[in-house]
Amino acid sequence: MKEREIIDLLASLAPGKHSDLLVGIGDDCAVIRKNADQSWLVTMDTLIEGVHFDLTWHAAELLGRKTVAVNVSDIAAMGGRPLFVFLSLGLPAEFDPQWLTEFSRGFAAACSEFGCLLAGGDTVRSPNGIMLTLTVLGEAESGRVLLRSGARAGDVLWVSGKLGRAAAGLELCRLGMIGESGLQDLVQAHLDPRPRLELGRRVAQEGLAHAMMDLSDGLATDIAHMCLRSGVGIVLDAGKLPVSDTLREAARQLGLDPLHWMVAGGEDFELAFAAAPDRKGELLALGRDLGVPLTAVGNFDTRKGVRLLRSGQDGTGPVQEDISFAGFDHFPAGDNAKKI
Ligand code: ADP
Ligand code: MG
Repeated sequence: MKEREIIDLLASLAPGKHSDLLVGIGDDCAVIRKNADQSWLVTMDTLIEGVHFDLTWHAAELLGRKTVAVNVSDIAAMGGRPLFVFLSLGLPAEFDPQWLTEFSRGFAAACSEFGCLLAGGDTVRSPNGIMLTLTVLGEAESGRVLLRSGARAGDVLWVSGKLGRAAAGLELCRLGMIGESGLQDLVQAHLDPRPRLELGRRVAQEGLAHAMMDLSDGLATDIAHMCLRSGVGIVLDAGKLPVSDTLREAARQLGLDPLHWMVAGGEDFELAFAAAPDRKGELLALGRDLGVPLTAVGNFDTRKGVRLLRSGQDGTGPVQEDISFAGFDHFPAGDNAKKI
């Protein structure tokens, strides 16, 4: 079973229906009615030692920051404000108190930077490494919440920042190239991601998009979710995907195609949103205002799937390849096929 099949199974056997549950399983956050005008936004993400981080290269303080950042990113994806966080901390019996102090320092700094408060949690012993689960409670005006399900055929897909940087940074860490001069911004993107809170707020407040999400599992998988939820498909233009010079340089040094990181690499925590074509001017002005590059990378249509348009090799014409769900999956097909 793949990750989304597991979630679908749970959702089908334990459906959540309540008149105040405006959006349940399937979006970046659950949306719960708070009062006549506002909604609560609730999200949870887990970081596991050996899966999401490696202590040999991830400094405790930065891991504390990242625990908050990756969760707050899901609030940004709805156009909301984070308010309260709850931390479940699994620690090995022999944990280092100095490590915990530094982790807590980074955690507190990120909470203060993003405007949220630690309001509770749980502390348990873990037999196998550190486990960090955070729940974030945020809020937004109900009429302004941006879901994954609102994209329309004819809309343009925009992404913030540059793609594939965190995945490239992780690869550099794995290869022992963490100190490689000139490639530091990629390593930083993996160690210390920055959620696009201000951008998410402004896009939602100004009604500039029909749908929005954050990019955590790679464009191919994340946009496939947006397409499925919206009942549309998309053509992504490979030539338009925003690539940084350092990503190109890292790919050159490793003999890899940078496109792979940009399409399938996880943990960018950039925002992706679907907007009507006539919003282009306002969006470019907003990007300039915030100092965040915004790039139009594809067009939604009525066909199925996420199709990547690339210029053909050896002078042949452009080719389209279906890349739906080609990003990160915690349970890629086959791993558990015999067990479940
Ligand atoms: P994101 O990458 O934005 O954090 P996920 O891919 O983790 O989103 O989850 C997709 C959706 O599935 C979310 O709405 C999330 O709440 C829900 N979900 C994931 N795992 C579970 C689970 N074990 N039980 C119930 N809902 C889940
Ligand atoms: Mg998300």
